Amino acid sequence: MIEQRPHIQVIPGYKPGKSTVDGWDGPVHKLSSNENPYLPLPSVIEAMAEAVGNMHRYPNMDAPELTRLLAQRYGVTDGEVAFGCGSVEVAAQLIRAFAGAGDEVIYAWRSFEAYPILTRSAGATPREIPLTPDLHHDLPAMLAAITDKTRVIFVCTPNNPTGTVVGHEELRAFLAKVPSRILVVVDEAYVHFQDDPNAARGIDLYREFENVAVLHTFSKAYGLAGLRLGYAIARPDVQDGLRKVAMPFAVTDIAQAAGVASLAAEDELRERIDVLIAERARVTAELQRMGWPINPSQANFVWLQLDERTDEVQAYLNSHGVIARPFTGEGIRITIGSREANDALLAVLAQIPSSVGEAE
Ligand SMILES: *Cc1c(COP(=O)(O)O)cnc(C)c1O
Repeated sequence: MIEQRPHIQVIPGYKPGKSTVDGWDGPVHKLSSNENPYLPLPSVIEAMAEAVGNMHRYPNMDAPELTRLLAQRYGVTDGEVAFGCGSVEVAAQLIRAFAGAGDEVIYAWRSFEAYPILTRSAGATPREIPLTPDLHHDLPAMLAAITDKTRVIFVCTPNNPTGTVVGHEELRAFLAKVPSRILVVVDEAYVHFQDDPNAARGIDLYREFENVAVLHTFSKAYGLAGLRLGYAIARPDVQDGLRKVAMPFAVTDIAQAAGVASLAAEDELRERIDVLIAERARVTAELQRMGWPINPSQANFVWLQLDERTDEVQAYLNSHGVIARPFTGEGIRITIGSREANDALLAVLAQIPSSVGEAE
């Protein structure tokens, strides 16, 4: 047997959301991966189809058109925008470029499952800071965890899987105290679903603090999860490190064309996002009414804090054709899907007792 290196042996495999159900022949609703239920827009499909004809060529690594559009939008220079094969890849590049053996990466826990994997892959050490009892980032504890070894801090807002946000002023006060040699990555994968006016706005904080990088993705609100397109807004010196460790040609011309077409179709996409936000409110209110332990969410999913009932509720959902994302002993994350899927979810959860005491 060929031995994995010790720091790789301890990495838990990434668990993608499931997509099939055994022993259920009704409709199956996949609400496990925070995907957008809408098909890609016709204009986006058309742009991708056009780019397909050019696949005998390597893509343009600079993604010039998409870079220019995003730089204009955020009022930054072209050199402050960099793309990756999904924002997960950009996060990996940031960690690889700025942290390695002997270095520490701080993030809240529970948060995005990729953070421990990417941190350990780079040979760095995770410092996981538990969320507060009401499922928010514990910024004072994250601050207290900073040592000479800290190189990168992730702040995931809205947080996956809890849907909670970090307050803008709270994050600002935190950033004012973090030493400027530490890179703070504000992961805003779900920012387009955010409607709380007090929630952190990463780009505004980026302008104020030189050591901030912001991650965005086309996977969630823009509905292009399968295409793999994400980006970082960061200072040119950070981008320089990121580009050095990037896989060459990872962002295809198809992805670039889809990104450009999506930015041109934002009004249409906004309507879809607004429908999903309204559905989130409806699902939240209904589940609250039924007595389920649900927190308000600012993302395209909701979180049920089920603790030891997690596996039982998960099994019930699963056996009724609803696939959600369980975290044993903690809770279940359920993506807001089409109205039909959400109705199916509500119907299933209406059939089982919502409180622990009533179980059985
Ligand atoms: C989904 C997600 C991402 C982005 O994923 P990509 O598809 O790789 O762009 C990044 N961060 C968080 C917290 C996510 O949930």
